[in-house]
Amino acid sequence: MKQPASQRLGHTRKSGSGCAIALRRKLLAWYDRHRRDLPWRKTRDPYRIWVSEIMLQQTRVQAVIPYYGKFLRSFPDVTALAGADEQELLAAWSGLGYYSRARNLQKAARAIVTRHGGQFPRGPEEALALAGIGTYTAAAVLSIAYGIPLPVVDGNVARVLSRLFVLLADLRTPTGKQILLEWATVLLSQKHPGDFNQALMELGATVCLPQKPQCPACPLRGDCQAFLRNQVAKYPPSAKKPSPVSRRFTAAVILDGKGNCLLVPRPASARWMKGFWELPLREVDHVDDRNHDPQPLSEDGILLEKLLGRVRHTITTNKLEISVFRARLKRRASSSLGKWVSLGEMDRLPVTTITRKALRLALSK
Ligand code: SF4
Repeated sequence: MKQPASQRLGHTRKSGSGCAIALRRKLLAWYDRHRRDLPWRKTRDPYRIWVSEIMLQQTRVQAVIPYYGKFLRSFPDVTALAGADEQELLAAWSGLGYYSRARNLQKAARAIVTRHGGQFPRGPEEALALAGIGTYTAAAVLSIAYGIPLPVVDGNVARVLSRLFVLLADLRTPTGKQILLEWATVLLSQKHPGDFNQALMELGATVCLPQKPQCPACPLRGDCQAFLRNQVAKYPPSAKKPSPVSRRFTAAVILDGKGNCLLVPRPASARWMKGFWELPLREVDHVDDRNHDPQPLSEDGILLEKLLGRVRHTITTNKLEISVFRARLKRRASSSLGKWVSLGEMDRLPVTTITRKALRLALSK
């Protein structure tokens, strides 16, 4: 019979053991004193907690804070989100990136309204059946909002556990994930699972940092195997990152006499940000920036006139460099290309971040 990962590692673990109880106490006491004052920590409303968890996926806390309040003012509850217009929803999400999160949020909100009477479900199975909700998000929302004892393992928790228990397994593999889940389950407080989960994540986010962990300030340093063995740098074992891909684009800023700018819709076949609006854009091998005769952007009648500068943007492993040109239309074909939008209107439209960056650059010239 296959041994549990914990026994294969040679560790003995029991949730009621003195060691687990003491560690839990220290961590919860530390969290009480040192937790950051974040807007989603002032509520037990599952809707608000769920929105914060989705926004925090792949986005830093500081970047999320301004969007979180604005989003909740526009869509204060599940029903408002379920009934929102898609363009309005994408506009409220604009700048946070990974827009499938917003679409899934709305899909799930509609399911909550139709299947669960507008209340975020309490059962893990029902929560996991909602769009965009995986094991981590389900456990986070249910433990924080309803106090259901489910362990969470995100990147921060994985790092802390790897160091506490000197776990050498590749934490991205199914075996590695299973080991982490077992440790998180053993440590979890049955009485205060929401606070405990947040405490472990908070420790990883503010003290047990990836590069320079602040061990002297850590409440768990007396229990941490990596610290006691002076081997913190060895954990977690480093994972190979995929190499970044550099890509170049030219973007055309075309203004009419009234200060409106021509935007075009993202193609329906686009991998990212379907439903968004952007400047006319073309991927190129190299950019001719000598500012001589106007160059065509493509066959659609747009002429690039003058290079205004460059902006950079990263999407997953794609490093994009966008050369921004002042441009004009070659012939009167504007109506079929896209629409003319004033700067004021852009706030209410889902406009790509690249376009916002390019326009800021163009307007500063
Ligand atoms: Fe992380 Fe250092 Fe604390 Fe260990 S002692 S959990 S390495 S901060």
